[in-house]
Order: sequence, then structure tokens, then C-alpha cells
Amino acid sequence: MSVMQNIQWFPGHMTKTKRQIQASLKLVDAVAEIIDARIPVSSRNPDLDSIIQNKPRVVLMNKCDMADPSSTQKWINYFKNNGIVAIPIDCKTGRGINKFVSSVNEVLKEKIEKQKAKGLLNPTVRVMIVGIPNVGKSTFINRISKNRKAKAEDKPGVTRGNQWFTINKGFEVLDTPGVLWPKFEDKIVGERLAFTGAVKDQIMDTELLAMRLLDFLKVEKNPIFVERFKLQNDQIEDIESYELLELIGRKRGMLISGGEIDTERAAIMLLDEYRSAKLGKYTFELPEN
Ligand code: GDP
Repeated sequence: MSVMQNIQWFPGHMTKTKRQIQASLKLVDAVAEIIDARIPVSSRNPDLDSIIQNKPRVVLMNKCDMADPSSTQKWINYFKNNGIVAIPIDCKTGRGINKFVSSVNEVLKEKIEKQKAKGLLNPTVRVMIVGIPNVGKSTFINRISKNRKAKAEDKPGVTRGNQWFTINKGFEVLDTPGVLWPKFEDKIVGERLAFTGAVKDQIMDTELLAMRLLDFLKVEKNPIFVERFKLQNDQIEDIESYELLELIGRKRGMLISGGEIDTERAAIMLLDEYRSAKLGKYTFELPEN
């Protein structure tokens, strides 16, 4: 059984967003794609490359406060080797976002120099911000813009109109026109979006989702996780994820009548603690070599 039970998928949405983005591409010099540093593959829209084609682009690896720092560096290098400027950012504290304007200017260096050579002294740079729901677009725009119009929304998939924000004199950003969905018809992508809280919990099988998260945690053996649940490394060596969920529930005294473990409650607690960064920093996807 998949953890994704009844995702509503409307192909028409993608067609509409694609048209909206393509129409707005004419208005901008570059695209800033925000991804989740913990899931750099699953948090991307698979059609984006074909939509934006050769438009200059920067990648903002957001939520890097919750990702494994050495993996983030591997991704930055991977993007660099593919000719893409990527920067790690953390919109919660603002770390890294001061590099945004300079990285866009770096990508547009030739264009800006050409404009200056033509006598255009201070051309305005316009950038479209794109990304799947919940990746942190509103939080990012709130942090960088002077006119605080954007609102952070906890609900995935909230549609917004064409909105411009001024960053500096001569530097403006446009919020994503339309909703750019992830590829959540793919089971693994759906699961990873669910761990990281990008998809609502109500549509998930919570225990199954917690088990999928434990599949990672038991391999990583991050000391923060191991110590938090007072586990022994050898205890989690060959354990099934469901048994590990029971063990964690027992450690927390989550019992139901008859001495059985309340694995549903344990699952909710585990996902909650992971999402509030109490179990350590993890990156679930690494670049291919
Ligand atoms: P949007 O749908 O892309 O506009 O995403 P939002 O800006 O509404 O952010 C979704 C959630 O992620 C909110 O709860 C934010 O507080 C949170 N968030 C955004 N950026 C970061 C970050 O860098 N680190 C952490 N830990 N949380 C973040």
C-alpha cells in the first residue's frame, strides 16, 4: 500500500501554471528556483527545466538549517559542475539570503555589462521566484522585500496572483504565478514530501510514513536521534522499522490496554519531533555521481 491515499491530481492545473510562468518569463531576466535542501530532487517540479528552458537561473537551497551540511555542500558542487549557481539559505534565521542579489548579478553579469555598454546605466533586474508549495517562497520574499506584502501560508497549494516585490532600487522579484506542483504521483517523492511536511498529514497512513522515516533514521544512526530515544546502536542494527517504532513507543511509555504499544501515537510523535528538528539534520537525497 502506498502512503499516498487520495491525492487529488488535476493535470489542468499544471497546464495553466505552465502558461502563466511562460507568459511571465518575458518580464524577467532570471529565475530563482527555491528547493528544499533536505529533498533536492523531490522538491522540484519535474517540468520546470522544459518550462524555463535557457532562462538564467539560480537555485536557492532553502531550509538548510534542517539538512545535513556536508550533503548540502555536495549538492552545491553538483549544481556548480552542471553550470548552475546554487546557494544554501535558511529563511527561518535569514542565513545565506544576503548572497541572493549578488548571485543573481553574477549569473546576469554578461547581460548587465552589455546593457551598460549600450548606455543603459542602471538597468532594473527582475527575477521570478518559483518553487513547489511549502518550500518557503513566502518566507523568503518576506525576508528580502522592503514592501512586506507576501504572507507565509502553512497550507500547501494556496494560489497567489502576479505579485511584484522591491528588494533594492533596481532589483525586483515576482512571486510564482500559479501553483507549481511536485511530482507526487511518484510514491517515493510523495513520502519524502510528507516527512518534510510539504503535504498534509490527513491524507497519509501515519504509521507507514513513520516507518519510512525510520528506514532512514536507523541507517544514519545520528547520535541526536539515538540518544533522544535512549537507543543502543546495536539495537537498531538489523531491526524492522515497525519494531523500531514499537521500541520508541515503549521508551516513551505509549501503551494501550493489554500492554500493547500505541504505534499510532508513537508515529505522530516521531514525525512531529522530526519536523521540529529535534532528531538531527538529514538529507534524504544525494546527487548522482
Ligand atoms: P510557500 O508555500 O513556498 O510560500 O512556503 P512558506 O513560505 O509558507 O513556508 C512553509 C513553511 O516552511 C512555513 O512554516 C515556514 O515557516 C517554513 N520555513 C520556510 N523557510 C524555512 C527555513 O529556511 N527553515 C525552516 N526550518 N523552516 C522554514
